[in-house]
Amino acid sequence: MAAMTSTSGSGRPLLNRRLAEFGTTIFAEMSALALKTGAINLGQGFPDTDGPEEIREAAVRALRDGRGNQYPPGPGIPELRTAIAEHQRRRYGLAYDPDREVLVTAGATEAIAASLLALVEPGDEVIALEPYYDSYAASIALAGGTRVPVTLRPDAGRFRLDLDELRDAITPRTRLLLLNTPHNPTGTVLTRAELTEIAKLAVERDLLVVTDEVYEHLVFDDGDGTAHIPLASFPGMRERTVTIGSAGKTYSFTGWKVGWITSTPELVTAVRSAKQFLTYVASGPFQYAIAEALALPDSYFTSFQQDMRAKRDLLSEGLTAAGFDVYRPAGTYFVTTDVRPLGEADGFAFCRALPERVGVVAIPNAVFYDHREAGAPFVRFAFCKKDEVLAEAVSRLKSL
Ligand code: PMP
Ligand code: GLN
Repeated sequence: MAAMTSTSGSGRPLLNRRLAEFGTTIFAEMSALALKTGAINLGQGFPDTDGPEEIREAAVRALRDGRGNQYPPGPGIPELRTAIAEHQRRRYGLAYDPDREVLVTAGATEAIAASLLALVEPGDEVIALEPYYDSYAASIALAGGTRVPVTLRPDAGRFRLDLDELRDAITPRTRLLLLNTPHNPTGTVLTRAELTEIAKLAVERDLLVVTDEVYEHLVFDDGDGTAHIPLASFPGMRERTVTIGSAGKTYSFTGWKVGWITSTPELVTAVRSAKQFLTYVASGPFQYAIAEALALPDSYFTSFQQDMRAKRDLLSEGLTAAGFDVYRPAGTYFVTTDVRPLGEADGFAFCRALPERVGVVAIPNAVFYDHREAGAPFVRFAFCKKDEVLAEAVSRLKSL
């Protein structure tokens, strides 16, 4: 049989036009490079330590007891939907009906894809903060939408949203805003003032909002009152907002792929219409375990944050000592750096060479930009790793 090529017999490309620009995700590419070279992987954002033992045990118990080994209900098991609603109430004072206003998904990734497939018509414009998480671009494209990036720009040590630019980006064709706070890859946490203005704009222009809040528990208060505030809690927002959450980051089980949305019954029904034809359902036994995880006491979240904050500081200080310009993140797993002080201009070339040069893998932020030149010098490092791994990575990077 002839080897498969990237075109069919007619010469037509096999991969459809909507996906052609995307290739392999940067995370897969860089994790493969880490494996091949034996480099320390500070690229793809996954912890190198599993989450709480009792939650791992809860999954084992579910599996042994035969809970979730067959298809769970389409919207997610009731225990998990109730736990999600209770989490939103307890943390943010937001009330959601577990039966009509919560939908469990295969990670936040499916929640993003299903939301866009459900809510976007071909030709609709979708505004996303640039740099944007890679699946946003692909999901907008699959839905036939047009992405309209609004660039976060470095300003006084953080990447800042220009609200005038956001306002100017809205046109009569704008269907929805796709937000992300805490923001991957920049580590920016949108402030109450910024969210207030975004909410006003959304109401004024009657836009839907999909807000990816998967790093909601990874926010570091450096004495400046930084906190995660859900966009759905602002006036006029609950009825137009799909809020996306995920257990992966909060409980350090990224492989379990338990995500969810909370929204109005109408929006949940719309998103479920798309979701049911993507995975239908996923993660059966893990849904039971995450229902227990969501009910962990506040002390779990506090100590998780303290732990991650120490790692952020360890890596940020190490990168500074190694000569990078460091944007110390207010949230997420990631620290964005500028490589220009090292005499480098192209983050992509830098990241491709880094494993061979010093045995460390990082992610070039440029891949998250339409305006590649705006992202060219920025490189992202993940700090959700053991302290000794971070220390070794820093010592290697100091030899640059
Ligand atoms: N959104 C953002 C901003 C992310 O960084 C990620 C990756 N962790 C996801 C969504 C996907 O989350 P999940 O693994 O739950 O699909
Ligand atoms: N969210 C993770 C990151 O930003 C990657 C997840 C994935 O590989 N899709 O590193």
